Amino acid sequence: MDDIVESLEKVVGRDLVITKKEQMESYLSDETSTSVKPNPSSNCILVKPTSSQQISEILKLANEKKVPVYPRGGGTGLVGGAVPTRDGIIVSLEKIDKVEVDKDNLMAVAGAGATLGKLLKAAEDAELSFPPHPGDEGAQIGGLIVCNAGGARAVKHGVMRNFVKGLEVVLPTGEIVDLGGKLLKDNMGYSLMNLIIGSEGTYIQYFE
Ligand SMILES: Cc1cc2nc3c(=O)[nH]c(=O)nc-3n(C[C@H](O)[C@H](O)[C@H](O)COP(=O)(O)OP(=O)(O)OC[C@H]3O[C@@H](n4cnc5c(N)ncnc54)[C@H](O)[C@@H]3O)c2cc1C
Repeated sequence: MDDIVESLEKVVGRDLVITKKEQMESYLSDETSTSVKPNPSSNCILVKPTSSQQISEILKLANEKKVPVYPRGGGTGLVGGAVPTRDGIIVSLEKIDKVEVDKDNLMAVAGAGATLGKLLKAAEDAELSFPPHPGDEGAQIGGLIVCNAGGARAVKHGVMRNFVKGLEVVLPTGEIVDLGGKLLKDNMGYSLMNLIIGSEGTYIQYFE
């Protein structure tokens, strides 16, 4: 793992690569109940990319070195999905947290690391609403999408899948793909975007 640290520092900068366990305790766990919570590995590297290009570089490196990658959202998951159970790279999306509301089109473009709380506030400021609410507003947009989160309001409004129009996704190979977009009529071919929604951490996405 040590040889990867230097390469990661070249990608995201030295300040955004954390190797000391005491500085990453909160990234080694999630909201899973203690009795079934998986044990985290003790030899992980935490990185905090600021762009999809950087995520792409990280994944290419991880592929080359055959190192597991653990995408990290708000850590509110209840099934241990974000817990790094083997030595690997934790990729926290927290720095990618921009939210832009497009009031005319009743849409928003949100970074994968933007919290649900931030999106709700931006919508409220624009006198709009965003119905899905699976409980914890510290959950991030990327985490909500890959878990296809629901919450009590889903009974009336539907789950996350019903609110996503487009995704920018970084594939495990490092390729960056745009799926869907700010469109209402988007009816050609397979819906690859819907393959990503509910993928439970097997892909990293940047923008939705
Ligand atoms: C109090 C509470 C109530 C809840 N109620 C409900 C409910 O009613 N209905 C419901 O559906 N859910 C519910 N949940 C679960 C909720 O859906 C998840 O906690 C949330 O979606 C996870 O988001 P997160 O950003 O915290 O992701 P994390 O916990 O950080 O990660 C969850 C999974 O997503 C992956 N991941 C995270 N971000 C990305 C990304 N950008 N790209 C790729 N993979 C990523 C991780 O690797 C992991 O596998 C509840 C959770 C809590 C704590």
